[in-house]
Order: sequence, then structure tokens, then C-alpha cells
Amino acid sequence: MNTKSLLLNMFKVPATTPQFLRNRLHWIGLSLFCSLVYSQQCLSQTDTSAFKSGNIMLTEPKLSGNFGELRSNHFHSGIDFKTDETEGLPVFAPCDGYVSRVKVSRSGYGKALYINHPGGVTSVYGHLRAFYPSINDTVTMLQQQKKVFDVELFPDSTLFKVTAGQLIGFSGNTGSSQGPHVHFETRHTLSERPFNPELAGYQFSDTIPPVIKAVVIYVPVKSAGLAFSERYITEIDAVNILNLTTNLSPSQNFFVGFEGYDLAGVEENNLGIRAYRLKIGDSTVFSCRIDSFLFDETRFVNALIDYPYWMQNRRKFTLCHKLPGNELPFLGSGDGMLTIEAIQSKPLFLEAEDFKGNKTVVELNIVNASSLRLQNQVIPSGSAIKYGVATTLKESNYRLKTQSKSFYEDVILDIRSEPDTTTRQVTRQVATSTRQVTWRVAILPDNIAINQPLELSIKVEPEPLVHESKYVLARVDSAGNLDGYSGVLKDGWLTGKIRNTGIFTVVADTIAPILMEPYFADDVYTGNLKLVLPFQPDLSGITDYKCLIDEKWVCGEFNTARNSIEIFFPGTVAAGYSFKLEVKTEDRVGNIFADKRQIVYGNNTQINIKKHEK
Ligand SMILES: [Zn+2]
Repeated sequence: MNTKSLLLNMFKVPATTPQFLRNRLHWIGLSLFCSLVYSQQCLSQTDTSAFKSGNIMLTEPKLSGNFGELRSNHFHSGIDFKTDETEGLPVFAPCDGYVSRVKVSRSGYGKALYINHPGGVTSVYGHLRAFYPSINDTVTMLQQQKKVFDVELFPDSTLFKVTAGQLIGFSGNTGSSQGPHVHFETRHTLSERPFNPELAGYQFSDTIPPVIKAVVIYVPVKSAGLAFSERYITEIDAVNILNLTTNLSPSQNFFVGFEGYDLAGVEENNLGIRAYRLKIGDSTVFSCRIDSFLFDETRFVNALIDYPYWMQNRRKFTLCHKLPGNELPFLGSGDGMLTIEAIQSKPLFLEAEDFKGNKTVVELNIVNASSLRLQNQVIPSGSAIKYGVATTLKESNYRLKTQSKSFYEDVILDIRSEPDTTTRQVTRQVATSTRQVTWRVAILPDNIAINQPLELSIKVEPEPLVHESKYVLARVDSAGNLDGYSGVLKDGWLTGKIRNTGIFTVVADTIAPILMEPYFADDVYTGNLKLVLPFQPDLSGITDYKCLIDEKWVCGEFNTARNSIEIFFPGTVAAGYSFKLEVKTEDRVGNIFADKRQIVYGNNTQINIKKHEK
């Protein structure tokens, strides 16, 4: 088969369909499918018994993450294998199948391989350093042809067959990865719904029950949301019975939360807990068991945790309470709301269980000290937003639109605005201006979980010298740092979507992604030489880039964690090797950085850079 027909064969969608549209089509297909098909039917279309999970790594890997772990804005959709903090460990196919998808991306799973197996199971390997040679060659060919680093292909079942135990790639740290590891995932091929690989027979030893570190009693403040709840936190240290003294009145609503994790072995990291329950005597008042979910549902993790406390204190409590907007399908019936009356002096049991059935049970005796009175609960001031109702809040200088499911519960928002006189800091060309351009809008509290995005508009009087397309919405953190959001300036209002509360302003981003001093380094994995091009952080983010060596396009690999581009030189590079490097980067608002320079590779990886004369 020649190159051209090979490449043509790989695309199930026309190569001319823009990437965003293909993603769009994919998501539309996915959500349609899953709204029509009940989750149990998704499961029945897969015969996981056909998936025989053989060895994926050379030795039995230690886990740094398991299925369903509560991560930032998502549940972990697979198992993470440790790779001894190195890269380049071989990865093997656990079962026969064929490569159905190859994706190279700057973010997400980085270099990811998807294998379809008999029985309707797809396995996924993420953050790889490299694929096995024939896939690598095909990817390189496609990158050269399209002159981009990010590529994706969908080979048909005949092109890249794999057999159990076959080498399929090498471990790495590509994409949105916090350190070298292999992300291994199993999905139902049809619905693309990830499920716990342990359900398909992937085994790891675990004889240690989950750990419960703290128990929290929450007393909600009417209509104000979790951010204003009162919390009684009790640290527990290997106790099985816990006496909790509260000052609740008999009919006062309260619910329970806890901090916990699972352990599998001494060398494993803290893992997520597969299942937990809250019981009054024998009857279950709240339960959760995560074995599978849809990517559409993964953000509801923010409704399962005490998000406001997590944002403020970086401590994650899991709720035994279903917020009104929590649509996770794997919660038992009941919202977990309790009163002292309803418990009728029976003990509460909090149970946490792992996949192997190791269980920890803590008995909670809620002791009421009636002499104590709840602190006077003050309803916070602000605008009440009802869950399920779209609302618009506006003043002369801002407008905030919430969707019916923007929050997971009723909340109270306090919005304030003041003139912003500091926005000029990121606008180079207008640094001399002292005119007030926009407003600083504080949407408080700043730690509320958002599901459907809010639409925020802020009034702007643009600087005459700055093009309208350069203005972006930015969130100002407590240290004064800016986080850029996209937005559109129209008729003196900048409008953008936000998924955080906090302080927002408008800035003109007129600074291109700037290249800092390049340097040579030996690649740890191949031993080959690489040229590293580090970039200054850019408010809008690098959306496009191009590298040329001696006027020929070369594939620069984008390292997202380091905000740098790496160009690899295969084979030995002689001292004194000299070449012309051209780099061009562009950010989301169209600021372009271009650089041309002669680079000489010196002895001992010393770099010798001469700036091109203009
Ligand atoms: Zn992972």
C-alpha cells in the first residue's frame, strides 16, 4: 500500500473537516447516543469477559492513581501506573485487537493510543513518550504532511493489528501530565464510556481497607449554599466509634461529609475510594459507587465534594449528601439530609469500601449538647439565585447571566464593582495612558462550583490604539495574577463565559508569546540531543506555532508543563553544527511572535546563539 492510500484509509471523517467540527460531531454523537440508551444497556453491549488483561508493563506496576479518583473538575477515568520517575519503559498490549485511534495532542493524554478488542472493549494508553515504530512512522508522516504537531488518526481494523503481549509504545510524560506515568483506561467501544479496568479483569493486589481521616457535620444555611454552611470537622485517627457533640436542635437539617482515601500497598499513592455509604442502623440514607461514567458527567465531581472548602483550604471532603444539581447516575436514592429526630438515637454508620471488598466502618454517635445553641445563622446579603432558574443580574457597568443549571444548588451572590485602574499593566502600547478603561467586578463568594458557564459582560472604553480583538476577560487571583478567558468586545461591552466566581476585569492582551533563551539538552529517554525553546507565560495562551530549520518545517513537540517547544535531533550531532532557526508563535487573540537566528551547537552541549542581523 502506498503512502497516499494509507493516509486516506485512516480517516473516517474527511481530512478537510476542521478539528473543532470533528470534535463537535463526536460530542453530539456521544451525548445523543447516551441520552437514548440507558446506562445499563451500554454495559450490556460490552462483553468484558472477552477482554483478557495480560501484562501491560514489564513488571507488575505500582499505582499512582485508580479509577474514579476525585480530581480537579473530573473523575479519574483510568488507572495510572508509576514508571520509576523515568520515561521510555515499554508498554504492551494486554489482549489481541487493533489500533483504532492515535492521537497526538499538546494537552490531555498527549500521545495516546487506542486499541479496540473483541467484546466491545477499547483500551487507552495516555501520556506516551512514543508509539511503536510503524505507528510512530505514520504519525511523523502525517505531521510532516500537515505541518502540525497535533494530529489524530482513526485507522481501520486491518491496518495495525496487535496481539497480546506486543510492544505498543513507550511510557512518557506528554500532554497534561504531572510527572512520568502511564494512564491506562478501558472504555465501552460503542458509547466511549470509561469503566473501571478491574471490572474487565485487570488485577492488582489490595488487602488494605480505605482510610477515613476526618468526618464533617454540615449545617446548611437556608438557600445560601455550601459556601455558607457551618462545618464541624472532627479528625479521626483509626477509631471505629466517634462521638460527635453538636448543638443542633432536634429538627435542624444537617448532613455528613468525610475525608478519606484508599490504600492498595505501601508503594502506591493514596487512591480513590470505590464505594461509600451512610446508614442509620441498617437503612442506607446515602450511597455512591463509581464504576463507570460518561465524560459528560465527569464535572459533577464538583457536586460530590465540598468544593468551596477545597478551593479555600485545599482539603477535599466527600459529601454524603446529594446537592439538587448533582446528576451523577451512580448515587443511591436519598439525598442524605438528616435530623436528630429522624435518627432517633440510632448510630450512624459511615462505610468506605474498595474494589476488593476491604471495608472501613466508622460508627458516628451524634451527641446533642442541648445547652449549646447554634450561632445565630445570618443569611448572607446578596442576590439569591434559585437552582433551576436562569437569572440576569445587572448594573450600569456589568451584566451577569446564569443558566438554569449554572450552580448545583441555591446560592447567594454578592456582586460589587469598582473602577479598574490597573489593567494597563499588560497593555504595552498604552502604558502611558492613565485613563480608566474598565471595571473590576467581584462575584462573591469566590469559591462556588459552577456547572453550566456564566456569561459575564463588563463595560469597556477601549483605548484608541488597541484593536478590539485584543481585549479579553481575566480573573484576578488573590496574588493579583491574571488568568485569561476568551471574550468578545461589542458595543462597549466585553462578554465572555466563566466557570469560576471571583474577581474579574478586562485587559488588552497585546503581548505575543515571547521566546526566552533557547538551550540544548540531552533527552533522558533517547540520549539524543534536543533544542529547548522556552516561552514566557502568555495570558491568552499559545494556539499556533511553527519551527523551521534551514527553511524546512520541523516538528517541534510542545511541552505543556514547561510551556516550551522541543526539537529533537536524531543520531549524533557534531560540535560546530550550525543552522538557521525560525520560530513563529501566535496566541488566541492573534499576537504574533517571530524570531530568526543562527544557532551553533558547541562542545559539551554549550549553546552559541547569534542573533540574526535584520
Ligand atoms: Zn491518569
